[in-house]
Amino acid sequence: MHAIIMNEVSVCLTFDVDAESAQIRKGEGPVKISKGQFAVQRGIPRILDLLKKYDIKSTFFVCGWVAEKYPECIQNIIADGHEIAAHGYLHEELDKLEFNEETIVHEHTNQILEDLAGKIKGFRAPYWKLSKYTLTIIAEMGYSYDSSLMDEDRPYVYSVPESPKNLVEFPVEWYLDDWVLFEQLLQPPAAVFETWKAQYDAIQEMKDLEDSRRVYTLTSHPSCIGHAYRIQMLERLIRYMKSKQANFSKLQPIAAEYLL
Ligand SMILES: [Zn+2]
Repeated sequence: MHAIIMNEVSVCLTFDVDAESAQIRKGEGPVKISKGQFAVQRGIPRILDLLKKYDIKSTFFVCGWVAEKYPECIQNIIADGHEIAAHGYLHEELDKLEFNEETIVHEHTNQILEDLAGKIKGFRAPYWKLSKYTLTIIAEMGYSYDSSLMDEDRPYVYSVPESPKNLVEFPVEWYLDDWVLFEQLLQPPAAVFETWKAQYDAIQEMKDLEDSRRVYTLTSHPSCIGHAYRIQMLERLIRYMKSKQANFSKLQPIAAEYLL
């Protein structure tokens, strides 16, 4: 017996465009750097093709250094109607920076991204590591949302410390991150598909929502999900979600609704 599912889910496929920024910052060798470069070389073109095929608009969190090195790649993302959001300059561990150092990272990155994409409204912390200052700094810069915390399984309005401003938080989780499942746990695509599908089904069936909005936020990295057999799995997931009332969205339009 299957109940008819009437609940629409907003699906936010998000992509963290780190490329080789972290490896450059850490002074890694050519092979590790080349693994990051797969993102620009092969991953992003495949992702853009897939999103275009299914008429999906997404949010891409981009490091400032990556946008400086590969502006044409970022312009291709923008040309397809996707949102650009901030992700540090060289994929810094923000909790290891002083307040002034961190402020420079955000302002510098913001300037680079805004020169390419216009007003930037969203942020995700590299490694999902926020400092105690991060959310206050980005709120004061006029950002409207963050996507780095793990205290909820639905978006919510976050009251920023020492600021009259609010941010919308789009919570994340390790099991909704391609890097952990594919690169660290070395799971086969069928297992990743089952995990991501199971969470989608569960969100659709959730009964404890205070409002009616169901949001599914998935984090992927072009250097990881961009490998051929993984992109095939993501396509399978998109087709499944489309068959189950998924409404694909960038993050910013949803954040704007929460801040009304
Ligand atoms: Zn990242």
